[in-house]
Amino acid sequence: MPVATSGLHHVTAIGGDPQRNVDFYLRTLGLRLVKTTVNFDDPGTYHLYYGDECGRPGSLLTFFPWRGVPGGRRGAGQATTTAFSVPEGSIGWWKQHLEEAGVETSGVRTSDGEEALSFRDPDGLAISLVAHPQGDPRDPWDTPQVPAEHAIRGLYSVTLSVHSEDATAGMFTDGLGLRFTGRRENRLRFEAGDGGPGTIVDVEVNPGSPQGLVAGGTVHHVAWRVPDGATQRAWREELVGKGVEVTSILDRQYFRSIYFREPAGTLLEIATEDGGFTTDEPLLELGKELKLPPWLEPQREQIEAVLPRLHLPDENNPDVAANVAEREGASE
Ligand code: ZN
Repeated sequence: MPVATSGLHHVTAIGGDPQRNVDFYLRTLGLRLVKTTVNFDDPGTYHLYYGDECGRPGSLLTFFPWRGVPGGRRGAGQATTTAFSVPEGSIGWWKQHLEEAGVETSGVRTSDGEEALSFRDPDGLAISLVAHPQGDPRDPWDTPQVPAEHAIRGLYSVTLSVHSEDATAGMFTDGLGLRFTGRRENRLRFEAGDGGPGTIVDVEVNPGSPQGLVAGGTVHHVAWRVPDGATQRAWREELVGKGVEVTSILDRQYFRSIYFREPAGTLLEIATEDGGFTTDEPLLELGKELKLPPWLEPQREQIEAVLPRLHLPDENNPDVAANVAEREGASE
């Protein structure tokens, strides 16, 4: 087997109104918009990337937001919950913060030392915040609304719903090199690499559940990370050799991707860790302007004409004004 994945790279979901999406993920959840671009396969739609300061792999939740998109249905063959990692002792703060923002939350559930709080985003996407006593060393993004001491550290896990477990479990262990690390009732846990936050997939067996429908408020796909293109190519060959239908390697500008489905139907991706979001704009300016890949740049005018304008809070690019003033001061 080629190098196994060390964990999640990103989760991509379908949202509704893009401005409402930005406001929720920046102001309410305290993430940073690290890239404003378009869906490369459908350039009339935004592709918004949220993550930590520089959008490290494993911190990213991304959206294709469409105004008026019909709602999807959570169900089998789908990633039904996306969980973020927060510090131990922060769940109470989050419950109050979300309720003050008008977001209805679940009770706090505790299992195997994990504390979890669940809620829906404005389009109905199911999100959990999970605090684990083992901690999470990843640096958070710091905003006035969500201070660093409580802020999201990155993805914690995804939950996939299936009618029966065997084939999906086989894909995760034999196909992606994850380890089976435990079962609790109808939930099987698999972890990548060293395990812990950002490496976990829970497979929930729900034999009677309806088949999921991917549309507004649902996850489109779940991406796993590999260090580079050579590993990705080796992996692609391995999957193809096992009879899995895999796309060709696609240039996503900030990483390269291949896509395939696990046996229950959830779309998976393997994305490279090289590249990154500072390839086409400086760290301080991430997310501020619409970025297009070189092959779509000639169509910028038409693309901008159909996309609704987005307004970002200043804190998404907090040092830009100060930094520009400093540069101008230095050149005088
Ligand atoms: Zn993706």
